[in-house]
Amino acid sequence: MHSPGDVRIEERPDPTIEQPTDAVIRVTASCICGSDLWPYRGAESVEDAPMGHEYVGVVEQIGSAVKEIQVGDYVVGSFVASDNTCEICLAGFQSRCIHQVMIGAIGTQAEKARIPLADGTLVKVPGEPTEAQAKSLLAASDVLGTGWFAAVAAETGPGKTVAVVGDGAVGLLGILAAKRLGAERIIAFSRHADRQALAKQFGATDIVEERGEAGNAKIKELTGGYGAHSTIEAVGTQESMLQAIGSTRPGGHVGYVGVSHGVELDGLDLFFATVNLLGGPAPVRRFLPELIDLIMTDQIDPGIVFDLSLPLDQAAEGYRAMDERRATKVLLTP
Ligand SMILES: [Zn+2]
Repeated sequence: MHSPGDVRIEERPDPTIEQPTDAVIRVTASCICGSDLWPYRGAESVEDAPMGHEYVGVVEQIGSAVKEIQVGDYVVGSFVASDNTCEICLAGFQSRCIHQVMIGAIGTQAEKARIPLADGTLVKVPGEPTEAQAKSLLAASDVLGTGWFAAVAAETGPGKTVAVVGDGAVGLLGILAAKRLGAERIIAFSRHADRQALAKQFGATDIVEERGEAGNAKIKELTGGYGAHSTIEAVGTQESMLQAIGSTRPGGHVGYVGVSHGVELDGLDLFFATVNLLGGPAPVRRFLPELIDLIMTDQIDPGIVFDLSLPLDQAAEGYRAMDERRATKVLLTP
């Protein structure tokens, strides 16, 4: 991405092993993330940046210190490279590993990519995925893993009523996660008929079209005046964060995973909200083994969030389609 709105496909040098802990993978599928739209729309500065942080692929080269991952392995990794051995990783927060490397700075909307800390970052997929499973594994790399973390951070579980703010891919897969984790009722905020349909397919029991105070009032009305036990925030704006906090009952939990842009919380409002807040870049690596197993045994099908597939050389059209909301999630193949 050369500047906002300016996406081009260009030849770059093939990646090579730079550190003994690196691997180089052939990217078999990548995709465009909702967070890629922030720089695309000029809400984040961008200048001649490689793009992409979601990936599945086949290992082509490994560094001399890589022990767990082998050439030829079909692998999935998260959007943050992590050693998976430091205290932060061992506590389950690999996205903030003390040795973290952001994959977005490397750019996986490409034919090949160097993956740092390969043993800690990559997870081998057992067997050969079908085309549908491959799409779902790609979803696990970020949007599913992020939705899953949001649901876990919001303490979703049996008997819980879950509100979901945001009907993009992460919000939709947060619904899938909440359903899978046993939520009793899942209320999705959405105004788009196609996304409402997908939300229901993933397990939403109620749809709320109102926003702001009216949206909060609707959640209260649906929950006997209490508010949701658990709320997933999957947008990252001031409005969505306030919607999430306002939808949650005192003592409830908000899992916020929308990348924060311009969110400012009033201390006194926060004080009286009396809610638990946990969020940030999702430690997808924590959930990958479980998610890979659920996908490879066909228990979940998150890959259906991809509603447009394009060859890599049409990536610019993919960005336009997502920007104009003609597509929820765009898959890119070499
Ligand atoms: Zn670590």
